[in-house]
Amino acid sequence: MATGRRPLVAGNWKMNGRRADGRNLIEGITAALRGGAGRDADVLVCPPFTLIAAAAAAAEGSALQVGAQDCHVEAHGAHTGDISAEMIRDAGASWVIVGHSERRSNHGETDFLVHGKAEAARRAGLGAIICIGETLAEREAGKTLDVLSSQLAGSVPKGAAAAATVIAYEPVWAIGTGRTPAVPEVAAAHAHIRKTLKGLKLDAEAIRILYGGSVKGSNAPELLAVADVDGALVGGASLIMADFLAIIGAAGAR
Ligand code: PEP
Repeated sequence: MATGRRPLVAGNWKMNGRRADGRNLIEGITAALRGGAGRDADVLVCPPFTLIAAAAAAAEGSALQVGAQDCHVEAHGAHTGDISAEMIRDAGASWVIVGHSERRSNHGETDFLVHGKAEAARRAGLGAIICIGETLAEREAGKTLDVLSSQLAGSVPKGAAAAATVIAYEPVWAIGTGRTPAVPEVAAAHAHIRKTLKGLKLDAEAIRILYGGSVKGSNAPELLAVADVDGALVGGASLIMADFLAIIGAAGAR
């Protein structure tokens, strides 16, 4: 079914990668894109901060986009160890992931803070990939859709532009575990997210909603074929060239 939404495959390298690893991955991905992979999908990699400038330079002139995994809410100032959205933009990136569950759990990030980071991305001219998702306890308590509604209402800025806003639905229990929700569960969550975005008076039909959580080359065709799934946010498998390219292929074929 034609949705008008171009699929996006985004790789989240997390705290992985030395300069040589980054170079090899970027070279492999850009070569594949030049060969026609990703003709029907946008492709983004989000390396650690240390590799962003090199990745952006290596990707220049190709279709590969580069993003960051987090940003501070302020543009500059006395925030030791933090990186602002403006600095990320200056390093050559065009997107930033905000509200990843590992930030929410390891650093106590709240919806309010995630909202501030999404605003910071907008201020700096970066697109924001806003992550939401339920824990296993919340799913087992039947609270999944309520959790998603409340995270969306708390994290997504008013009037967020569709071209610069992506929602990533990432069930916390599916991240890095090899487990994924069943197709009907993914479909229900994504349909609910789109309906909620509409209720928030956002351009819901144009905003891309990615699925994230243990996506691999082998399960990507099934997950990316689900209605309202507009691509994938990929952790572990984005570090494995063959897997990442297979996911890009599945996104383009959907
Ligand atoms: C992620 O970190 O966003 C993620 C989805 O990880 P993984 O693909 O490894 O589950």
